[in-house]
Amino acid sequence: MRENSKKELFRKIPKVDELLKGERFGKLLENYSRGHLVSAIRVALSSLREKIKELDPSAVSMEWFTPEAIYFQVEEELSRREEYHFRRVINATGVVIHTNLGRSLLAPVVMEHLARVAGSYSNLEYDLDAGGRGIRYVHVQRLLCELTGAEDALVVNNNAGAVLIALNSLASGREVIVSRGELVEIGGSFRIPDVMAWSGAILKEVGTTNKTHPYDYEQAIGEQTGLLLKVHTSNFRLVGFVEQVPGQEVASIAHKNDLPAMEDLGSGNFIDFRTLGLPSEPTVQQALKDGMDVVTFSGDKLLGGPQAGVILGKKKYIEPIQKNPLNRALRIDKLTLAGLEATLKLYEDPMEAVSRIPTLQMITQSPETLKRKAVSLRRRLMNGVREGFSFQVVLSTSRVGGGALPEEALPTYCVAVTPLQMSETALEERLRGSDPPVIVRVEEERVLLDVRTLLEGDAKDLVRIFSDISDAG
Ligand SMILES: *Cc1c(COP(=O)(O)O)cnc(C)c1O
Repeated sequence: MRENSKKELFRKIPKVDELLKGERFGKLLENYSRGHLVSAIRVALSSLREKIKELDPSAVSMEWFTPEAIYFQVEEELSRREEYHFRRVINATGVVIHTNLGRSLLAPVVMEHLARVAGSYSNLEYDLDAGGRGIRYVHVQRLLCELTGAEDALVVNNNAGAVLIALNSLASGREVIVSRGELVEIGGSFRIPDVMAWSGAILKEVGTTNKTHPYDYEQAIGEQTGLLLKVHTSNFRLVGFVEQVPGQEVASIAHKNDLPAMEDLGSGNFIDFRTLGLPSEPTVQQALKDGMDVVTFSGDKLLGGPQAGVILGKKKYIEPIQKNPLNRALRIDKLTLAGLEATLKLYEDPMEAVSRIPTLQMITQSPETLKRKAVSLRRRLMNGVREGFSFQVVLSTSRVGGGALPEEALPTYCVAVTPLQMSETALEERLRGSDPPVIVRVEEERVLLDVRTLLEGDAKDLVRIFSDISDAG
């Protein structure tokens, strides 16, 4: 008897589509995307379903089934979700270091350290031995020097800041010689000539776009020269009749003329990718071995840590940078510092770093692992989503991003989704409007879910989201 009346009650639960037709819900569409609204309605309906399951049918009020009551719950759910504007998204693009999606993810052990420091007082600038004022950079200085062989180190807010303060400290009012082929723009906002102008250094371009020779540097050196700069061309690569002067040679020309040489490595990394079967990317250690006096790079690109700008090199050149008043403006904050120290600690054992730092993990996943992930995701989607899509596993390529391994596309596997009742661009939009938003690649009338950048738990959300889209039609 009781089971029967429960069944009755379940049948009385309104359908998503019916609710959406109502005027009040229709009005919500002015402020929320359809995907968002549908998913909030589902939450409200599923909590109603739970109540029916738990309670004796006699305790269930018919009031709860009215559109008014459900509307009230939906509104609550929507405002709860609105709480944070800055929130988690699912990165199904396969771009590991995606600047728009927050670049590198922190390793769990790094997050723990960061959370501990965030919620308590710390020895940020307190010398526990002396019992007085300390220096915030000491927390990472020793590690950075040990890991790279540098004499001294400094960290600032980001790499753009690192380049700015280094040039300002070492070459303000003097000429900085750079090869024309290395005058790049990165991510639309970082241009070497602009940063140079703000630093007060005077840009002196040498060579041509495709070729620069050692004598180009030599001939450009004069009374006004302050520094020789090399820039890793990151997201851009010239092919064909191309020649740049290797770092070692740039450093040696600088030293012959009693000048410092500096290299902006962009996506600085500590691991030689060739040993992992990946294309080569210049390492920080190599740049220092080549004789570079100052090297700068980002904390949240290949290093896989928080946003930061790391400056390494000879004491003689790092010291004036530390003393520059700009350093106060570009100061690294305590959370970043905690995240950076914990990330660097993982590099004490390079294999540990590769297996525990998410950025390196994602880049080094084997095609077999990726294929297994794609097959498993497809199976879960096929089982969990009733209709509206066809799912296939396809071989594709993903990019590292962040100006790293620039020209290289890594083989990957994706679940290719062909929507049967909407266009692929409409599907992309619906996914973007879900909770959490799903960011995808659209290629050849299909939406690609690249498993390289999917995290544990994302598959469950994807099944729910696709299922919601399928039900909402
Ligand atoms: C990414 C990059 C920068 C900027 O680094 P941020 O950490 O984003 O400030 C500067 N130079 C090069 C060569 C880069 O690749």
